[in-house]
Amino acid sequence: MTVPQAVLDRMKDAVGAKGFSTDQNDIAPYLEEWRSKYAGHTPLLLKPAMAAEVSAILRIAHETGTPVVTQGGNTGLVGGQIPHGEILLSTRRLTQMAPVDESGMTVTVEAGVTLAQVQAAADDRNLLFPLSLASEGSCTIGGNIATNAGGTHVLRYGMTRALVLGLQAVLPNGSVLDMLRALHKDNTGYDMKQMLIGSEGTLGVITAATLRLFPKPEVSVTAMVAVPTPAAALALMGAMQARTGGMLSAFELLPRIALDLVIRHVEGTRDPLAAPSPWYVLLEATSGAATDLAASVETTLAKAIGDGIATDAVVAASQAQSAALWKLREGVSESQKREGASIKHDISVPVAMIPDFIIRATPAVLAIVPGARPVSFGHLGDGNLHFNFSAPAGGDGEEFLARWDEVQQCVHDIVQTFGGSISAEHGIGTMKVAALPRYKSHAELDALRAIKAAFDPKNILNPGKLVPPVLRL
Ligand SMILES: Cc1cc2nc3c(=O)[nH]c(=O)nc-3n(C[C@H](O)[C@H](O)[C@H](O)COP(=O)(O)OP(=O)(O)OC[C@H]3O[C@@H](n4cnc5c(N)ncnc54)[C@H](O)[C@@H]3O)c2cc1C
Repeated sequence: MTVPQAVLDRMKDAVGAKGFSTDQNDIAPYLEEWRSKYAGHTPLLLKPAMAAEVSAILRIAHETGTPVVTQGGNTGLVGGQIPHGEILLSTRRLTQMAPVDESGMTVTVEAGVTLAQVQAAADDRNLLFPLSLASEGSCTIGGNIATNAGGTHVLRYGMTRALVLGLQAVLPNGSVLDMLRALHKDNTGYDMKQMLIGSEGTLGVITAATLRLFPKPEVSVTAMVAVPTPAAALALMGAMQARTGGMLSAFELLPRIALDLVIRHVEGTRDPLAAPSPWYVLLEATSGAATDLAASVETTLAKAIGDGIATDAVVAASQAQSAALWKLREGVSESQKREGASIKHDISVPVAMIPDFIIRATPAVLAIVPGARPVSFGHLGDGNLHFNFSAPAGGDGEEFLARWDEVQQCVHDIVQTFGGSISAEHGIGTMKVAALPRYKSHAELDALRAIKAAFDPKNILNPGKLVPPVLRL
């Protein structure tokens, strides 16, 4: 697609000299994503500094039928933020933050503020913004909302969807939907903000949000537990929830190979326990007032070891030890990347079915690619696994990656038999848009397309992403 020069010029005028670039050296970092799976191109990078500029850009885009891709921190894992000839609209200059409202426990921020900045602002006021991802230093609130990001604390606090009270977004025709309300209750018809949450830049450009904050826990207990199987991990989770009164805030499953990769590739990490175990759980329990939470966790772990559902455990004795245990979990994606080629899935099944899913899907993939190394880890407490495979040791990475579609379809077909989802938290983007019709009913696809057409009749926002085209025979 070629965008006429006159349209480019009008868009540049809309943002002023500081708000655009056509220099391909400046633009290059915006065109490649974390996994280097998608490389893009664009004639123009726009960096609006306020919602009014976003509105002006989209008015021109709507009038001239010019497609636009929105990008926040460029940490998305399904290619949704990468333009393929469209105008690229970066939110990185939308960085205003209002003071934290301590009594209402909310904060209103513009879309380009990073997740880490919001966490820090809440922390300064002895409050908590619980969304937590390994990409938190770079990803933006706008991107978190657009992808309905999950992360490690969903078990206790829910996904991003549960953390947004108000939203401001610019619709594809340039009109500004101003819903920056700090209301917990608002039953005045369709919830427009929830339509935009998880819409991956296809329905509007999110420009600001009012976010929910929580009291900062006073007590936090982190433990790494060796378990023999995922089924044992599940049993441990039940026992821990019962004993702590539902105080678990994270419950992450890790196979031994994940620890091996982190220890090999991430500096300053080491084995947390004396003997290796086939599986581990990283758990975190938190509570408000000083309680006997640590004692509850330790008693439960001792009983679990007695019952054979755990074989060893270490409870962090300081914040530094807790951070060291978390580093092992947060380093998995990075170390798998450094290890070489990998085929990744972000799936969910009902929580209780995770062990059976692993038992069934692992050999199915190994039958396609013998020697592939399973690295299935993730948010056991949410029924969400990053069901990943690294290339066979010493194998050809390119040859392995050439099997991506075949492996993905095999895994996703099994996910469907478990009543699961082919995208638990990363979204659909470019990566899974072709697969979606295989797993969604006609009725669901029709509703998806109808919503897209109602918001964006000219299909100018993130065309080709998330919404599969109708196939005509
Ligand atoms: C190491 C690592 C770990 C990760 N861990 C997790 C995890 O645990 N859980 C999880 O859910 N994700 C995870 N992610 C994925 C990613 O960080 C999230 O999807 C994040 O929410 C994306 O935010 P971003 O600002 O980088 O968005 P981008 O990558 O820039 O964009 C992502 C999508 O959102 C759209 N978008 C961005 N900003 C806006 C906006 N203002 N308005 C409208 N649309 C917009 C884009 O068009 C694109 O479709 C991880 C990524 C990495 C690299």
